[in-house]
Amino acid sequence: MADFDLSSDQRTELYRLVLEKLEHYYYNTSSLTVTPPLNKPDLERHLSEQSLEGTDSPADIIEEVTGMMTRHTVHTPHPRYFGLYNPRASFPGILADLITAVFNPQLAAWSHAPYAAETEQYLIRQIGTRFGLEDAHGTFATGGAEANQTALLCALQHTFPGIADHGIASLDRPPVIYASEEAHHSIAKAARTSGLGTKAVRTIPVDRHHRMLTCHLEDAIREDIQQNRRPFMLVATAGTTGTGAIDPLPALHNIAETYGLWFHADAAYGGGAALHSQLRKHLEGIEDADSITFDAHKWLSVPMGTSLFLTPHPSILKETFQIRTDYMPKDADGMPVRDPFAHSIQWSRRFIGLRLYLALRFFGWDGFEETIGRQAEMGDLLREKLSRTGWKVVNHSPFPVICFTDEQFSDDPEFAASVCQAVVRKGSSWISIYPVDGSQTLRACITNYNTGEKDLDGLIGDLSVARKKRSAMKQ
Ligand SMILES: *Cc1c(COP(=O)(O)O)cnc(C)c1O
Repeated sequence: MADFDLSSDQRTELYRLVLEKLEHYYYNTSSLTVTPPLNKPDLERHLSEQSLEGTDSPADIIEEVTGMMTRHTVHTPHPRYFGLYNPRASFPGILADLITAVFNPQLAAWSHAPYAAETEQYLIRQIGTRFGLEDAHGTFATGGAEANQTALLCALQHTFPGIADHGIASLDRPPVIYASEEAHHSIAKAARTSGLGTKAVRTIPVDRHHRMLTCHLEDAIREDIQQNRRPFMLVATAGTTGTGAIDPLPALHNIAETYGLWFHADAAYGGGAALHSQLRKHLEGIEDADSITFDAHKWLSVPMGTSLFLTPHPSILKETFQIRTDYMPKDADGMPVRDPFAHSIQWSRRFIGLRLYLALRFFGWDGFEETIGRQAEMGDLLREKLSRTGWKVVNHSPFPVICFTDEQFSDDPEFAASVCQAVVRKGSSWISIYPVDGSQTLRACITNYNTGEKDLDGLIGDLSVARKKRSAMKQ
């Protein structure tokens, strides 16, 4: 029979090998090409050639897998990955994943993992305070998408208390959600997976700073009421995925109050500002939200799969998710405890919160403030450098998310895509494109706490080369 534990000597040897490989990658990330070759047949062939008979030596397998990870991944931990909100994972978060994997605590029931469950609840209260929630409740989720779905389900439950047992089929009027046209598509997906359908989401136009237009919102709500539909949820985005725009939270909160809507703030990325004394002001009004989505795996640089759902409503998660069972362990010596499985979408669950807890213990609030502030500064510096080198910044965000173009190429609809492709192909920086006001623009975001001025200069250099190439091609 296979020894699933391996021997103590083998483990020590393999730990050492893995550490050596990982440290080499972590230390040398910046010397790698950011982008991998994208060759599916090669990967399929490679996989089909590997033994599944248990015959290769563990050391060879580790060698092979870490090598493939190095060659065939977009290196989001690279300081010149100016991409979507994917960070470099800070070291304590990495340790947290290893510790969690070894102890493998089961956080479904409080009594199975009391320390882990209490740690997560403690973090939720602590992070909640940063958002101005005096007594925050909530749950850790795998990502913003799960947190947004949690919000939608809570909003439904709050508005239609019978829905837990009787479902949406029991509603006499079709429920409607409002979000801006710049909101994240996980809202539409949540509408679909909750059975409402994507048509239940009204997308509200934005102003020239890409913030939801409150007049259009009110018109839409009134129209829906008149048409005998039932508005129940308003989603404000605090830091949109495309341009880093922040919807007018206080005004939207007022509208939500007037019409009795659940007010959800999707701060998956922008929520990081809550941990910074200067940037926090941009989230003003978020303290009035009925729920908040905040991804620690974005601006807080912890490994993927770490999000928080926060709410001031003490019993809404329980009302939404509690299912009675006979087989789940209950005993907590008669103390009132929150079983995570009865307060969230997930059942069996890992100790997600340890990644954030260790990072906070290592660096403290000040450490987070510093790194968030530095990334915002790097964003400002990049805006400056772009302007000086003939690029025009076209979005308006206090966060380090920058959409830009070169107006001399305004008659070339393929300009942004071609520059982006040239930069990404070269492999020393990674950027993306995003449509702003109907035109494709280049998008660069500072997502890495190690990104410094020389990385910005590297990007500016890559952009200049790509622009010249495009210019030459057009002549
Ligand atoms: C990233 C993002 C999401 C989705 O979060 P995941 O962690 O990718 O599931 C939702 N909303 C906004 C505003 C985002 O930026």
